[in-house]
Amino acid sequence: MDLKTKDSTARSAELWQRAQTLLPGGVSSPVRAFGAVGGQPRFLSHGVGGRCVDVDGNDFIDFVQSWGPLILGHAHPAIVAAVEAALQRGLTFGAPCEDELRLAQLMVDSYPGVERVRFTSSGTEATMSAIRLARGVTGRSRLVKFSGCYHGHSDGLLVAAGSGAITLGQPSSAGVPPEVAELTSVLPLDDEAALVSLFAERGDEIAAVILEPIPANNGLLLQRKKWLEKLRALTCEHGAMLIFDEVISGFRVARGGAAELYGIEPDLVTFGKIVGGGMPCGAFAGPAAHFEHLAPLGPVYQAGTLSGNPLAMAAGARTLEYLIENDAWNVLNESARSLCAKIETRAAQHDWPFRIVRCGSVFWMCLGTRTAPRTAEAIDDGAAEVYSKIHAHCLANGVYLAPSAYEVGFVSMAHTPEELGHAAHVIGDALEEAFR
Ligand SMILES: *Cc1c(COP(=O)(O)O)cnc(C)c1O
Repeated sequence: MDLKTKDSTARSAELWQRAQTLLPGGVSSPVRAFGAVGGQPRFLSHGVGGRCVDVDGNDFIDFVQSWGPLILGHAHPAIVAAVEAALQRGLTFGAPCEDELRLAQLMVDSYPGVERVRFTSSGTEATMSAIRLARGVTGRSRLVKFSGCYHGHSDGLLVAAGSGAITLGQPSSAGVPPEVAELTSVLPLDDEAALVSLFAERGDEIAAVILEPIPANNGLLLQRKKWLEKLRALTCEHGAMLIFDEVISGFRVARGGAAELYGIEPDLVTFGKIVGGGMPCGAFAGPAAHFEHLAPLGPVYQAGTLSGNPLAMAAGARTLEYLIENDAWNVLNESARSLCAKIETRAAQHDWPFRIVRCGSVFWMCLGTRTAPRTAEAIDDGAAEVYSKIHAHCLANGVYLAPSAYEVGFVSMAHTPEELGHAAHVIGDALEEAFR
């Protein structure tokens, strides 16, 4: 495999020093600082298909893929061409553009129950705005979320469970007022009794329940369909909205996301990552009737100077078209299956407390247990330490994994069988070293 590795990291080191003096912690988003694994972040210079290259010229088979958006891989020619063509026409107008309709149409045609789409510039904005819409429609204030799910960094979502039986949340970040956090109730995943009791106690206060139907931000916590169905039934019964946050799973696990996979239709859905094709973009969507409440049609305000940005719309629309034209979900599923099977075959020769959890092209190396956890609480505490060894070995040998034990990996359409085979080999060696 023609992978350049183990060269100097001098240029990254130099830039990392400088970054400390300009950006808080050296980064624009915390996980990039490698705090959870130690070592020094690499500054990336470019990417081609399944690979990225750092400023010192080291190659990596990349399973971060910008945390999910790059489902076609880095600098895919079809996406680059679409963005270049849009670029020539102007960067932004702050007025309607035709590609908004192209992308919205693809989303309406793909996702169960979606009739209207409002574009934003990030996934955080999408969830924040979907919650406001749900509150506007229901006239209620309480939000329910689950521990182990991530929905971006707006105040009402940076909340942890309160102590004991208390259903009021507590801030999980400084700067979030307790008064705001109290409006969010945080429940464990996979716990039917907790759901039933919260709805019995406060069902008529609940505006919305938000969850990642395929929780992929704290390990990959695949849920039981029965539990999801119970959640759907309870929200219906109590007049609360069910918001599926499909910022990762949307167009990743299936054309119709988790809703298609589980056959469960939410009231509102949020998108991000893939729908922008690598450009900043998010969206919230659902039935026309709910969107009658959203400005300019109704009293729920939401806006954005760069929302529906022409470059993002062009990149997103081309990405979705390409996925649909190329039977992408079968291809991705097969690529990821073969990668994971190779790693697991290696693991099976040993007695490692390890397994891979996978859903389509999303995979997670679960350390410390051979049972796939369904809740954040069930993840082994020692995982982070073992993972830092695996991460360091992979980084030194040309495989770029997320710098945290709790982040998933993404296989893209661009990863070749050769790259996947090589990566499986390197990851196998890393496991061997970590469990020695
Ligand atoms: C990434 C993510 C978000 C936040 O999106 P940003 O674009 O980072 O603001 C929200 N929800 C989920 C499920 C995500 O994975």
